[in-house]
Amino acid sequence: MQVDAKKALLGRLGIEENNPGACTGTWIETHGEEFVSLDPTLARPIASVRRAGPADYEQVAGASSASFASWRMLPAPRRGEIVRQLGNLFRVHKSDLGALISWEMGKIRSEGEGEVQEMIDIADFAVGLSRQLYGLAMHSERPHHRMAEQWHPLGPVGIITAFNFPGAVWAWNAMIAAVCGDSMIWKPSHQTPLVALAVQRLCNQVMRDNGIEGVFNLCIGDSHDVGEAMLADRRLPLISATGSCRMGKRVAEVVGKRFGRSLLELGGNNAVIVLDDADLELALRAVLFGAVGTAGQRCTSTRRLFLQRGIADPFVDRLVRAYGSVRIGDPLDPETLMGPLVNEHAIEDMMAALGRAKAEGGEIVSGGKRLERPGYFVEPTLVRSPRHLQVARDETFAPILYISSVRDLEDAIEQQNSVDQGLSSALFTRDLVAAETFLSARGSDCGIANVNIGTSGAEIGGAFGGEKDTGGGREAGSDSWKLYMRRQTNTINWGRELPLAQGVRFEVG
Ligand code: NAD
Repeated sequence: MQVDAKKALLGRLGIEENNPGACTGTWIETHGEEFVSLDPTLARPIASVRRAGPADYEQVAGASSASFASWRMLPAPRRGEIVRQLGNLFRVHKSDLGALISWEMGKIRSEGEGEVQEMIDIADFAVGLSRQLYGLAMHSERPHHRMAEQWHPLGPVGIITAFNFPGAVWAWNAMIAAVCGDSMIWKPSHQTPLVALAVQRLCNQVMRDNGIEGVFNLCIGDSHDVGEAMLADRRLPLISATGSCRMGKRVAEVVGKRFGRSLLELGGNNAVIVLDDADLELALRAVLFGAVGTAGQRCTSTRRLFLQRGIADPFVDRLVRAYGSVRIGDPLDPETLMGPLVNEHAIEDMMAALGRAKAEGGEIVSGGKRLERPGYFVEPTLVRSPRHLQVARDETFAPILYISSVRDLEDAIEQQNSVDQGLSSALFTRDLVAAETFLSARGSDCGIANVNIGTSGAEIGGAFGGEKDTGGGREAGSDSWKLYMRRQTNTINWGRELPLAQGVRFEVG
């Protein structure tokens, strides 16, 4: 994209050279230090944001609490109607927002637009949900009594997001929280503040049209002044946090201490198992997208590959050929399949992991190097080893795929489940018994288990999240909405007696 076109893009999305970092519907003139958003393709600044400090956070938290008081009383279908308008605005700006995501984060343009599509999809889902926030009715053991449960809005929700899905992760939370009657405060990653600014402007537009302020709030600051303030803030009964396991442990500790609720979406270490009888063409395409797509910077990226011995060698040969033909370059160029890593630190992490892999006896069979060009480009890398490497037990947020051979399905499942993380997993087979074993209670221990489809690229309709060190949270579809509401059980006596439960008698005289 030419420089002029990029300038015009920022203009259409309302982003200036220097931007305020907090908003309650009205922008707050923050005066903190600047965050410079870097274009990872050229390692050059795009624009900057003046970060929010403690006083700005106080203002945002106050506005968010005030707006919760009225937002929770608006009928849920009416809240859904407002979310519908927001989803429509995402549709109008899909191309621009997708380009900005691609430019600022480094994922390819079609993935950037795919991310906006996810924001649209979850908005649509939330609109329908706004008429389906059902509670159960139960039969009481007492005559002339009725029991029922109802779901009430929970309160202002804190949403902390990672750099790699700078728009969609917020939308998974925000669209559902909004129809549930919660206001919210969004703290985006300091690496992708511009996407957050653009999205906030769209929220402001819709809310202004509806005469409402303070439901969607933004606070761009560092993890101490804003992040830690959110964790400790008793006004926020729920903190939904997406990021590394290290960050999640801290969230769980601080929020748990004040009996708050945390919804954690943390690191993954996802594996694909390919059995001898699999459709190898299908498996190859899925592994390639899972391991190379988004330059390995998805929580669901494929990081480990277990190949049954009968197909291991020919499969690796095909994979090496496919890796050799991946077009690496500017993510905004429609020909590109893999863009840059997010920053210099990510390259250092990748190179350190490859050093460890070699020291442990792993063999780099493809890639392994940084590209000689501006920006943060690396080759997607295949590391082969006869056994599961120690380094492969950690999540390195880069396009490294560790390959080892397995005896059979049992062996593969054992190795797959042997790591601390439990997000996504996939099996390729044509055997029904193998597929059902993988999905059974003694199969994959992950929150996501797929058959004949890769580890990444989830749809919003299912509950998304993982077990063990991935944090146990569930977001987006299915009944994840319940985490954003509080449940109340009601018993109503419409008789003239007061019978006690369990036949207890308590009478005077
Ligand atoms: P990160 O942990 O560095 O940062 C994530 C967010 O947490 C940022 O907004 C950061 O400012 C904030 N943060 C950090 N310390 C904090 C603290 N003490 N208090 C409050 N906030 C704090 O992660 P990242 O590098 O931005 O993203 C990559 C990681 O996110 C990977 O581990 C990836 O697997 C994970 N991720 C998980 C999912 C999922 O759904 N499971 C989705 C996307 C990314």
